[in-house]
Amino acid sequence: MKIAMVGSGYVGLVSGACFADFGHDVVCIDKDQSKIDRLNDGVMPIYEPGLADLVTSNAKAGRLTFTASLAEGIKGANAIFIAVGTPSRRGDGHADLSFVYAVAEEIGEHLAGDAVVVTKSTVPVGTGDEVERILKNSGTPHRIAVVSNPEFLREGAAIGDFKRPDRIVIGAEDNFGREIMSEVYRPLFLNESPILFTGRRTSELIKYAANAFLATKITFINEMADLCEKVGANVQDVSRGIGMDNRIGSKFLHAGPGYGGSCFPKDTLALLKTAEDYDSPTRIVESVVKANESRKRAMGRKVLDAIGGLNDARGKKVALLGLTFKPNTDDMRDSPAIAVAQTLTDAGVHVAAYDPEGMEQAKPLMPEVEMVTDPYAAIADADAIAIVTEWDAFRALDLKRVMDLAKSPVMVDLRNIYRPADMRDMGFAYTSIGRG
Ligand code: NAD
Repeated sequence: MKIAMVGSGYVGLVSGACFADFGHDVVCIDKDQSKIDRLNDGVMPIYEPGLADLVTSNAKAGRLTFTASLAEGIKGANAIFIAVGTPSRRGDGHADLSFVYAVAEEIGEHLAGDAVVVTKSTVPVGTGDEVERILKNSGTPHRIAVVSNPEFLREGAAIGDFKRPDRIVIGAEDNFGREIMSEVYRPLFLNESPILFTGRRTSELIKYAANAFLATKITFINEMADLCEKVGANVQDVSRGIGMDNRIGSKFLHAGPGYGGSCFPKDTLALLKTAEDYDSPTRIVESVVKANESRKRAMGRKVLDAIGGLNDARGKKVALLGLTFKPNTDDMRDSPAIAVAQTLTDAGVHVAAYDPEGMEQAKPLMPEVEMVTDPYAAIADADAIAIVTEWDAFRALDLKRVMDLAKSPVMVDLRNIYRPADMRDMGFAYTSIGRG
């Protein structure tokens, strides 16, 4: 199979490299020439564990190439994937589909043979119909099928997720689409990864339903954590106690500062908009979005409480450990750290932050925050230390050194990575999430 991947970001680059690793002939396309230049030089434009090796070995083997020219890249492709961004549209929360439609127009203009056009981007119900309309309107003489194939990989574990998925969802309306997609995913068929064929609209909705459900699970346990704090219970035991029930499952039941990232916030909002447009309200998801939004600043207030409250905060220093929305990525999109830092700087607190991979992306998002080159530089003279992202580096802090460096031994652990009893024994004033 020859595959073209339009958009070489987190999803496009990982998917393209994995397809090449399956043995397909893949061209990754991106309109960002500097990204293409870096990829051609063997430099990864994003941080994702294992990606550099995978890209380099497949590029060396001649199965993976990069270009900024869509016309060039889609030549002879059996399947053309659209993996561009679908951010929230400014102002109203609808998914902004302008990048997807621009790519569809360009494909229509340059298509040089029969092909299946696949939306891998997360797109609202009905987008495939519009992509099909655009392609047909282009007057292309070639046979096309438009297929939905949402992506479920997680940043930080993207390659494993792509190669060993829980399931592959393919929404196709005809045999041409189904046959080409079966070939594309044949190596995974052989691996016995479950493949679910559905209609195109169903497939588009599956992606949003999945993300909304996961966001609900996180928000549910976060609210249980708040309740635990009030009633003197332990949320980690509550998670275990409910998660052992197979109907509930143990995953996604870690209480924390609220969900963030490039997907859950924008996808839950977009689902609400679809539901509104079709006059079919999704009230549970509405509550989830509201609860999560207010939680992020509430976490900032939790840190303020630990240093004596809002009125006593001006001029104090807080060390923020972790900025990305989760570990093992450099992605800062909608990270809770942004709201936590903002709440602190709004109160006049000096924030010094360290993140192993996210600082470049974080700088423009939090201009008032001082970025430092290691956790201990942030901790020096701090009135409190707040752990926002559970990077391994923060699980292994030299706590004795922390104690010596900090002005006050105050720690707010928004990820529950330390044991309260141990921390108190060491002399820390330690607060965490949902642990009494
Ligand atoms: P991204 O911003 O990292 O990458 C998008 C890329 O598309 C950019 O490099 C951009 O330059 C390129 N692009 C935009 N317009 C283009 C055009 N006309 N021609 C060629 N290239 C173009 O985005 P991402 O995180 O990879 O997300 C892509 C899609 O996948 C989104 O719909 C997202 O919701 C979905 N998704 C993301 C994840 C994730 O974890 N990041 C997981 C599942 C699904």
